[in-house]
Amino acid sequence: MQISVFGTGYVGLVAGACLADVGHQVICMDIDANRIAQLSRGEIPIFEPGLSQLVTHNVAAGRLRFTTDAAHAVTESDTLFIAVGTPPDEGGSADLQYVLSVAESIGQHMQGYKLVVDKSTVPVGTAERVSDTISRVLQQRKVEHPFDVCSNPEFMKEGAAIDDFTRGARIIVGTESERVKERMKACYAPYNRNHDKLMFMSVRAAELTKYAANAMLATKISFMNEMANLAERLEVDIEDVRRGIGSDPRIGYHFIYPGCGYGGSCFPKDVHALEQAALQLGYTPELLKAVEAVNQRQKQTLYTKLQESLGNLEGKVIAIWGLAFKPGTDDMREAPSRALMEALWAAGAKVQAFDPEAMGECRRLYGERDDLMLAGDRIQAVKGADALVICTEWKEFRTVDFTWLASQLNNKLVVDGRNLYAPSALSEAGVCYVGVGRKS
Ligand code: NAD
Repeated sequence: MQISVFGTGYVGLVAGACLADVGHQVICMDIDANRIAQLSRGEIPIFEPGLSQLVTHNVAAGRLRFTTDAAHAVTESDTLFIAVGTPPDEGGSADLQYVLSVAESIGQHMQGYKLVVDKSTVPVGTAERVSDTISRVLQQRKVEHPFDVCSNPEFMKEGAAIDDFTRGARIIVGTESERVKERMKACYAPYNRNHDKLMFMSVRAAELTKYAANAMLATKISFMNEMANLAERLEVDIEDVRRGIGSDPRIGYHFIYPGCGYGGSCFPKDVHALEQAALQLGYTPELLKAVEAVNQRQKQTLYTKLQESLGNLEGKVIAIWGLAFKPGTDDMREAPSRALMEALWAAGAKVQAFDPEAMGECRRLYGERDDLMLAGDRIQAVKGADALVICTEWKEFRTVDFTWLASQLNNKLVVDGRNLYAPSALSEAGVCYVGVGRKS
């Protein structure tokens, strides 16, 4: 198939490269000329494991091309994926300007039948708005061309995006049209051989499924954080509780780790957008509001724990291991590390930070500042620091010589925002350990 993907962010680039890898001819289009120039030079603007090799391989094979030319992307392909961003607008609803601007381009340049596949996360009713936009532009051009719009939400996780795209649990397609079903089956056939993962449903159900999935996952996290905060006050180790409840197959072990709050480009904005959509319908989503409120509070927990242990933080030097919102990515959007760093700076503390992948992103976000030292590795980050905080559970932070750590930290304090370590191992080494939902 000849496919064009609009948007070369995490979703568009991964989807484009994976679709090219199974033999489709793919054009990736972006309005960001720098990004396209980088990609054309073989540079990958984001960190995602395996993506660089996948892109290089498929560009060399002539199946993957990059362009800023929307007209070219529309005319060359008859299956057009929209994978542009849907950031929050001022009120927290999904801002559809990028999605609708792609729809405008499609309407402007289409010459024959097009299947428009919406992969961006969008509120219920957006496919109709995309369809209306294309129809309006066609009317202005005084031409008639047939087209369909379907919803195909993406469930990939940053850090495991290729695996999720190629071996995901389900491929959801919202459409009532048999023609669209056949085309989407053909598109995903190479990734649908082992068993049928394609689920067809109404467009509106597909659009809501994506928000419901993210809201459910965010709920699990906030629920566990609430339990952790309670466990702390009851002098119970939340890790015992986690294992205890996870063993129930109705609950399961996935996604019930307590921590320092969820971040990233999806959960915060999608939970909020769903809440806004509910409010606009006159329905107050009490649970979603609570999920968000618990998360906001949880993002402050590391700072509070530091303050409780060290008192006034002015002039203190705090080492941070992990800046990305989760391991396997360089993405720092809404990351708990940012809430912590910003609170520390406001209090007059200095940060010495290390992340295996997000150092460039941190430099881009905060630039050069006297109260931020970007360390070359985790060892340099703790040198001369008063305390260490774990913000991201990268594998390379899991094993530490705690005796060495004790010798590095002036105040011998570790605040473990991901409960990576056994509290007893740190106390044996003379380090004061503060986890989330655990006895110190
Ligand atoms: P992103 O911000 O990384 O990338 C979006 C890209 O779209 C940018 O490169 C931007 O320049 C480009 N763009 C904007 N307007 C354009 C236009 N008119 N034509 C072509 N390109 C245009 O976004 P992302 O993280 O890839 O997310 C894309 C969508 O997928 C969002 O709706 C998001 O909620 C959803 N999603 C994201 C993830 C994830 O893990 N990042 C997972 C599932 C779903």
